Amino acid sequence: MKSKDFDVIIIGGGGGGLSAAIMAKEAGASCIVLEADTKLGGATAWSGGVFYAAGTSVQRAAGIEGDTPQAMYDYIMTLAGWEANPKIFRILSEQSGAGLEWLIEMGVVFPPQYLVCSGVDTVPRGHPSQGLADALINTAGAKGVETALNTRVESLIVEDGRVVGVRAGGTELRAGAVVIATGGFGNSEEMIKRLYPTAAANGAWTYAVHFRSPYILGDGIKLGEAVGAEIVGHDTGLLLPTSGLGKFVEAFMPPWITLVNTDGRRFMDESAPYAVSGYLINAQPGQRAFAVFDEVALVEGSQDMRYADPYNSGGVAMPTWEYNLLRQSIDNGKIFKADTLRELAGKIGVYPEILEATAERYNADCDKGIDSDYFKEMPNRFPLRKAPFYAREVRACVIGQTGAGLNVNEQAQVLDRLGHTIPGLYAGGEVLGCAMGKRYSGGGMGICNAIVFGRIAGTAAATDAMKQA
Ligand SMILES: Cc1cc2nc3c(=O)[nH]c(=O)nc-3n(C[C@H](O)[C@H](O)[C@H](O)COP(=O)(O)OP(=O)(O)OC[C@H]3O[C@@H](n4cnc5c(N)ncnc54)[C@H](O)[C@@H]3O)c2cc1C
Repeated sequence: MKSKDFDVIIIGGGGGGLSAAIMAKEAGASCIVLEADTKLGGATAWSGGVFYAAGTSVQRAAGIEGDTPQAMYDYIMTLAGWEANPKIFRILSEQSGAGLEWLIEMGVVFPPQYLVCSGVDTVPRGHPSQGLADALINTAGAKGVETALNTRVESLIVEDGRVVGVRAGGTELRAGAVVIATGGFGNSEEMIKRLYPTAAANGAWTYAVHFRSPYILGDGIKLGEAVGAEIVGHDTGLLLPTSGLGKFVEAFMPPWITLVNTDGRRFMDESAPYAVSGYLINAQPGQRAFAVFDEVALVEGSQDMRYADPYNSGGVAMPTWEYNLLRQSIDNGKIFKADTLRELAGKIGVYPEILEATAERYNADCDKGIDSDYFKEMPNRFPLRKAPFYAREVRACVIGQTGAGLNVNEQAQVLDRLGHTIPGLYAGGEVLGCAMGKRYSGGGMGICNAIVFGRIAGTAAATDAMKQA
């Protein structure tokens, strides 16, 4: 083998890549992070920074005792109906706490008062953070991790069946081991069509919340495929609901709408967590629904911060449901308007008698202060009573995470179609196809995966690389 430039080369400088780099450096390896963008951080730096973890010091500080990795594992596997890789989710559950404490040591703050149940679990495991990407970037810098920006890796170098380096911009760099940490593929129409058909089915409505990270294009999947890696997790991911009235980071629907399917029937609690809401909408005929509301809901509901900010973040968490945008969209015809529900039903193409019956039942419930069908909880009720009535199509098409990607074992070694490791090749973060399962378990699992598997990949790659001449 020709001499190596570094022990470990890490492709991608987001949460997974930086975690790998810090761990590789701590293990005594020399390493470099190659980043296609003009800055480090990737989607991790744009993210909400919520980390899903069990049995943490933050939970204990909030008075939550007794949560365990086993309970987290059981919850994830149950929600996925066991259609998730048990070995990978056992590791994520067992190492989530250690990953989070590692970040705390680095200076990341997880205020205990903001802990949330970010899935459909009963224990708060969603840990909102402050300063996560900056802490990783600064720690990597302080530890002497080298970085090269504007450096998009184009291919891997393989010799005698082992990955021994990368090619980027006409240059070859050689290493004892390579870590792929290139994130997801939500900004690539071609990759979405190929690996996430449920998202692609929404056509022009579909985009990823990763739109501010231009290189989230699935490069790592292609790099792996070119050297024989198996791609798993086809058509999995997280699809968030939206009114489609703008391109924003949006994960929630407001509870003041009445959501009906194309028959005109309600089918869910409109305030359901995003761990389940998109899947419910995509299970409806035509993968779509309509938000129906009256004048009172529009004026009062859309301007009430209790509904606009379900995670108490201090900002508006559902910008496409914001009052001024809704008014504008009514004026320009993007939102349907009618004097009666029957007329509205005609405009949106649902059965008038079913929509009227839905409203009658919902209104009677509102008068009683309950939702006897779906148990939606909210401080005030918004019946469908005061004209004009409005309707806007809703789709679950905003990609929050892509699930398809590389398959790895417990040491983050990339696997081929026969389940054999590809020597010298490691991966972690959203590029993995084995860390999603059938369902996104809850807010924070993306960061959990990036940190946990980034750390594992960095340590394992360093150990392996330092054995190579
Ligand atoms: C707006 C938003 C909010 C989110 N909120 C949350 C949240 O609160 N909690 C949560 O768990 N998840 C959240 N997510 C998802 C989460 O951020 C990601 O799953 C996670 O950060 C992915 O980390 P990563 O290191 O795998 O990839 P990234 O952080 O995306 O980093 C990948 C890096 O690789 C680089 N790259 C790509 N191709 C190449 C190449 N060929 N050569 C060199 N570099 C390359 C990219 O430019 C990028 O910098 C959110 C995502 C977004 C966009």
